[in-house]
Amino acid sequence: MNQKVIFIGGGAASLTSAVLLKKEEPSFDVIIVEKDKKLGKKLSATGGGKCNVAPLKDNPYVYNPAAIEMVESLFDEIPLHDYLNILESIGLDTKAIKDYGFYPIHESAPQVVKNLYHQINKLGIKVIYDEFVDYSEKDGRVLVELKEQFLEADKVVIATGGLNEDMRHIFESHGVITTKTYPGLCPIKVKEDVSNLFGCRFEAVITLLYKKNIVRQTYGEVQFKKDGLSGIPIFNLSSLISREENFKSGDYQISVGLPDNFEINILGKTIEEALFMLFKEEYVNYLIEKHKFNRKELIDLSLEKKLLSIIHNEPFTVDSLYEMKDAQVTIGGVSLGEIDQNFALNNNKNIYVVGEALDVDGICGGYNLRFAITSGFKVVFELLNN
Ligand SMILES: Cc1cc2nc3c(=O)[nH]c(=O)nc-3n(C[C@H](O)[C@H](O)[C@H](O)COP(=O)(O)OP(=O)(O)OC[C@H]3O[C@@H](n4cnc5c(N)ncnc54)[C@H](O)[C@@H]3O)c2cc1C
Repeated sequence: MNQKVIFIGGGAASLTSAVLLKKEEPSFDVIIVEKDKKLGKKLSATGGGKCNVAPLKDNPYVYNPAAIEMVESLFDEIPLHDYLNILESIGLDTKAIKDYGFYPIHESAPQVVKNLYHQINKLGIKVIYDEFVDYSEKDGRVLVELKEQFLEADKVVIATGGLNEDMRHIFESHGVITTKTYPGLCPIKVKEDVSNLFGCRFEAVITLLYKKNIVRQTYGEVQFKKDGLSGIPIFNLSSLISREENFKSGDYQISVGLPDNFEINILGKTIEEALFMLFKEEYVNYLIEKHKFNRKELIDLSLEKKLLSIIHNEPFTVDSLYEMKDAQVTIGGVSLGEIDQNFALNNNKNIYVVGEALDVDGICGGYNLRFAITSGFKVVFELLNN
């Protein structure tokens, strides 16, 4: 049957799913509505401009606890191998990069958006640049209200990304429950003055502590900002902190340092000599100033103990997280209890919600695009089979 399907939002989930749907069933009338002047803005910034579309291996346990079960059953249904094949069928051929994940062969996120845009034009998918403001039911179909016009559709797929207050209002006015939202995968502000460390980066063991108890330990590159810490392992820890309902500045600490099993012989050297063996100049100066060391002092047994503790575990006190605009994902969204196994709203089966708009977020490494795009594909299969 000739169906009209409107995708709300022109991001990762919509662009890929709209192309797949129209390609598989050209008789469908497919429309994308985007409030911005450009499609795929966020998608074109992913993966440091390279677009990490999936991890090397799925792991539902890296998503928020509320989502694990749903993500697991979605990935059982559309396993990684099938997902990558579907991407290839819509012109997004990928390759595995060791230790990182799957990326497009050309390793260019802007090129992914350009290629999708090209297909959208070629397939005759209409793009409307306007803002979605509401929906209602009309003779068994959906009446979609945009700022500038009304549209009618048989099915609507809402893929508007991280839930903002406007979208929350739309959902809640239709009785769809949403959860609180927080910034996820973002830099962390610390209380210490790290301004002189701006731009300094190195590989370290990074330990998150809550009231002095270890919450998580990870390894990777820590990057310093003027007022805090950044880098992939820090982003991943930020999502854990973000979920803490009663977060208070000072409760969390992040310790940074070299691995415990790293052989370090510093006895008999000066403090300066010892630290320069291990760290970059900015970090050496930071440690010397912060701990009020005498650079030229020779390291004896008692100083060795103190210095080794700093080398392995220099603590930074978490003050706050960066804001939503600096976050890679939004934690929270449409509550998963509001959708069925096909991502249709329980209270309106003509409306689907996919991608980051849902209360699903994963760690860095391709997990968020893997979920957002796969949830869209699941809806496409549902539409094709009905
Ligand atoms: C810098 C950065 C790097 C990232 N890198 C990666 C990575 O490498 N791998 C990974 O897996 N994830 C990455 N992510 C996360 C990933 O980009 C998102 O999880 C993903 O884009 C979510 O897809 P989506 O389609 O749900 O939403 P989006 O891609 O955010 O698309 C939503 C679209 O809806 C539009 N919209 C919103 N409201 C309305 C409205 N009312 N009317 C009309 N349109 C509307 C928005 O303008 C937007 O274009 C990164 C994110 C950022 C910010």
